[in-house]
Amino acid sequence: MNLAKLRLGDYELDIGYLLRELVERRARRVLVQLPEGLKRYYVELVDAISRATGAEVVADASPTYGSCLIDPVEVSGYDLVVHVGHDPYPLSNLTLGNVVYVDLEYVGVNVGQLVEVVDRSLRGLGVTRVAILTTNQHKKLSKELVVGLGGRGFTVVFGPALVLGCYLPPGLRESGAEAVLVVAGGRFHAVGASLVLPGLKVLRVDPYTLTVSDTSKDTARFLSIRLRKMWEATSARSWGILVGIAGQYRPHVVEAIKREFDRRDLRYYVLRVPVLNVDTLRNVDSPGIEAYVVTSCPRVAVDDLYHFEKPVLTPPEALQVVRGLLGQEYPKNFI
Ligand code: SF4
Repeated sequence: MNLAKLRLGDYELDIGYLLRELVERRARRVLVQLPEGLKRYYVELVDAISRATGAEVVADASPTYGSCLIDPVEVSGYDLVVHVGHDPYPLSNLTLGNVVYVDLEYVGVNVGQLVEVVDRSLRGLGVTRVAILTTNQHKKLSKELVVGLGGRGFTVVFGPALVLGCYLPPGLRESGAEAVLVVAGGRFHAVGASLVLPGLKVLRVDPYTLTVSDTSKDTARFLSIRLRKMWEATSARSWGILVGIAGQYRPHVVEAIKREFDRRDLRYYVLRVPVLNVDTLRNVDSPGIEAYVVTSCPRVAVDDLYHFEKPVLTPPEALQVVRGLLGQEYPKNFI
């Protein structure tokens, strides 16, 4: 067995680093957290850790959409928490001293072919200066993409840098890139980036399908839904402020919204919702509430609750609405 790397399907994990951390921290009770969609690899990972260290290993089956959901109270009962496949959440200042973050790299890709596909797309668009954003699973691949594109006459003026559904790295807007390449499977990260980067071409580079696609049609569709939702909320006099937990608990955002509502004599109810989805929202919904603002994961408002019967907005959207600024440019942030 190669002790340095553990293969989990088409993904690879630095088990050597992980085992060193476990031994150095003398961890006897360990919680492992895998991202959604990859929890099926728990058995291999738990076996590898417990065989090598003899530690008691518990697999976390609760939703792990991001490291934003690491709950300090939940994880305090373990010597070490192994959080796989996400980087530390940059928008939280929670102290999580017993958490170790381990990358999960997708290795099922032919880099040469991907560089070729990206090269063709960029030439077709007449673009030479690009920024590269990536998720945790494609950090190494993104570095190889920088080298490959550099060798073909393109200039990577920014990145590779980490993108999250609610977060863009600082400096991207000022980088002078003509296009932003988002290396990620699915549309989630690319469409999110595109929504808050108006006027900049955002291309989705999908390592799973070896394709490059323009996000502009998807973005236009999302934008028209967001503007309609914001318009519907303009008459709301009574709001629900949805509050999350762990790194998704944002007291400063909640207080800023309450202050704004107080100033405008709007009624509001603060609702604590650890896991927000259409069922939990329907469960607490009341005729006394006309619109909602999500202060936990803003992408739940955009991607999951856009068809809810009442408007559900992100914090910057709600502030724009109640300040009477609808019609200005769509907010440049999700939080
Ligand atoms: S988009 Fe939501 S799940 Fe993803 S990092 Fe942000 S708050 Fe967490």
